[in-house]
Amino acid sequence: MLTDSHCHLASGQFSSDLDNVIERAITAKVSRMVAISTDLEDSSKCIQIANNNNCVSATIGIHPCSVTEIRNDNWIEEIRHMARKESVAAIGEIGLDYFHPAPSGWTDKSYKDLQGEFFHSQLELAAELGLNVVIHHRDRGDECWKEINKIISPFHGKIRAVFHCFSSSWESAKPLIEQGHLISFTGIVTFKNASEIQQCAKVCPVNSFMIETDSPYLAPVPFRGERCEPFHAMTTAQFIADLREISIESLSEKTSETADLFFRF
Ligand SMILES: [Zn+2]
Repeated sequence: MLTDSHCHLASGQFSSDLDNVIERAITAKVSRMVAISTDLEDSSKCIQIANNNNCVSATIGIHPCSVTEIRNDNWIEEIRHMARKESVAAIGEIGLDYFHPAPSGWTDKSYKDLQGEFFHSQLELAAELGLNVVIHHRDRGDECWKEINKIISPFHGKIRAVFHCFSSSWESAKPLIEQGHLISFTGIVTFKNASEIQQCAKVCPVNSFMIETDSPYLAPVPFRGERCEPFHAMTTAQFIADLREISIESLSEKTSETADLFFRF
């Protein structure tokens, strides 16, 4: 039984066959899915999906790429209100994205500043509510990484974070894990040019990482390029189990246990 710790079940790409997608996951022994939100609409959809499916939990939050689209000044209150729902397992995905350019009408600086404000407010809310956070970080260099560290460090000891879609070396993961945070691996780990990530997945300690799909994106080899679904978490898990020379059962059990401790299930 494996947990897919990060999938976008509210995505339009699943709207016509979501029940089948969830059914296929369960058949493949992916028995728990965390539906991740990117904006307010997504947050209510994820809660709805979780309410309708025992095997699904939701996160709620505003993704850094969605911050300029939030028109509701009361957005943080909406999130606070939604967080009371039993099916809400964490705040996310939140963070910084310096990879995509600022949308038209925004300067690079004003866009990054707004992302920082949203990130900080949601960390404060998570600390207040006692929920952990799912972090998105993407950049072409290390500026975003440094800024994330700066914004999150005052919350040390108050909240734990999972750095989702972790795509760096063990050297970069180590300090995060030492601070009590987690990393999680997508299908990217199975790609041919991913030797640094593979090395990280091989040596990082048990209970420091989770498995995710980030579906509908990032399907693992040999499904690369197809629509990704939660059942693909098993392929990624098998790949990492082979790297670590352990059984798929043991890897599934350990990573699901890690998810059970991290999320409010
Ligand atoms: Zn995601």
